[in-house]
Amino acid sequence: MEFKKNDCVTVTIEDMGSDGEGIGKVDGFTLFIKDAVIGDQVEAKIIKSKKHYAYARLEKVLQPSPFRVEPKCAYHRQCGGCQLQALSYSEQLHFKEQKIRNNLIRIGGFDAEYIDERMQPIVGMEEPFHYRNKAQYPIGTDRDGNVITGFYAGRTHNIIANTDCALGASENQQILETILSYMRKNKVTAYDEVTGKGLVRHVLIRKGFTSGQLMVCLVINKKMTKMLYPTAGVQKNTNEFLPNQGELLAALAEIQGMTSVSVSINTEKTNVIMGTEIHNLWGESTIEDTIHVRDMQKENYPYTGDALTFKISPLSFYQVNPVQTEKLYSLALEYAGLTGKETVWDLYCGIGTISLFLAGKAKKVCGVEIIPQAIDDARENAKRNHIENAEFFVGKAEEVLPEFYKKATTEASSDEMLHPDVIVVDPPRKGCDDACLNTMLRMQPERIVYVSCDSATLARDLKILCDGGYEIRKVRGVDQFGMTVHVETVVLLQRKDM
Ligand code: SAH
Repeated sequence: MEFKKNDCVTVTIEDMGSDGEGIGKVDGFTLFIKDAVIGDQVEAKIIKSKKHYAYARLEKVLQPSPFRVEPKCAYHRQCGGCQLQALSYSEQLHFKEQKIRNNLIRIGGFDAEYIDERMQPIVGMEEPFHYRNKAQYPIGTDRDGNVITGFYAGRTHNIIANTDCALGASENQQILETILSYMRKNKVTAYDEVTGKGLVRHVLIRKGFTSGQLMVCLVINKKMTKMLYPTAGVQKNTNEFLPNQGELLAALAEIQGMTSVSVSINTEKTNVIMGTEIHNLWGESTIEDTIHVRDMQKENYPYTGDALTFKISPLSFYQVNPVQTEKLYSLALEYAGLTGKETVWDLYCGIGTISLFLAGKAKKVCGVEIIPQAIDDARENAKRNHIENAEFFVGKAEEVLPEFYKKATTEASSDEMLHPDVIVVDPPRKGCDDACLNTMLRMQPERIVYVSCDSATLARDLKILCDGGYEIRKVRGVDQFGMTVHVETVVLLQRKDM
């Protein structure tokens, strides 16, 4: 049996794919249907048909699934940022747990029983909306020439006007409306990606959830021409980046919690949002946030009393869900099992957040990260929190670690970092490089803690580490991104001969 484009089918959704699409079967033929959720009976129209499967568009929900809920955001289908908004939160958690489990079994080649014995219940969110501490809104113009902001419709650069994203901080709307009304009143233009003309490109908003501090950074398409030969008596305010700038600053300053307003210069024709040149216009150049250590074995994960404070600039990398980040880091810390005597490598360390958590409980921690500015921040953060036993290296984990290993072995050095007790890794989606994994195996740490944002590459890497003499002790998912299909996983590996 084969379907043609525009054929209509009635199908029951029995499963969900890794992108959140509903999966159902008609006469053994598999259908992938975006926006349909597990348990739905739907009517769908075939969009694209292949030999054994087809993609179809959801036309009508005939019989809603018991897991189907009313989405909070009217734009969730157009936007595509929240793939799971129509699924109840508890079922989202179940979906994510299954995603991790399936990847470990299918890609990692582990037995279902082996995984089930080691998997701890996923760590969910108490409030799965309004959890993001960072938002980047594009500014554009609608058909009638009005300045608007919102989000790009899935896979396009067409802006759909909406200042009230369900995942963002509740203050975002007021901030955006303030900027829009200032722009309209002062005829400030929005950037046009096609012509490269227009002034305001994006608005970045960051919030320190613990401090309550708000940061706004307008990305603008304008270079400041420096006055090299100012005429005597003529004063030019070189800090004037926007027309009638004082009016905007005064309005933003009124917003409860606002502590930092800046502009970022980006005159390139590029998809990269932020420009690297930042000018502070009002208040501080950074905001502050505190991450507390939690007890992940107790109900509701209470604070243990330990905490670290970070300064965040418009360009800093910082986890976007601060509440769940506390749980993720606390879990990594728990799995590391530190007593104060251990030496630890923290690979892919970013601004050193995990490293500094570990340093409080270890003898020494070395962090490795590819972005030099992140390492500058890491060193700053160490100082700010009075941590002296953390050292940071700039470079690729797959180069820094092997070089260190080679040097330490050839020099017959007894460097204590040569055979660390624990290695923590938190790589980007593509996972760890083979050279990195192989060096880790040579270093033979007692424990490896793998923090992953993609359980497929995690599964692939775990197979290599387990073939190399390690065994999985614990696996636990942490939901950092409610309403989306993404899930973080923390795994504890132990050397088999220990
Ligand atoms: N552990 C940090 C950052 C995790 S994100 C935190 O929780 O905040 C992954 C980090 O790995 C990013 O900061 C990225 O810049 C860095 N990175 C990417 N490829 C890398 C590589 N090959 N070697 C080292 N770091 C890398």
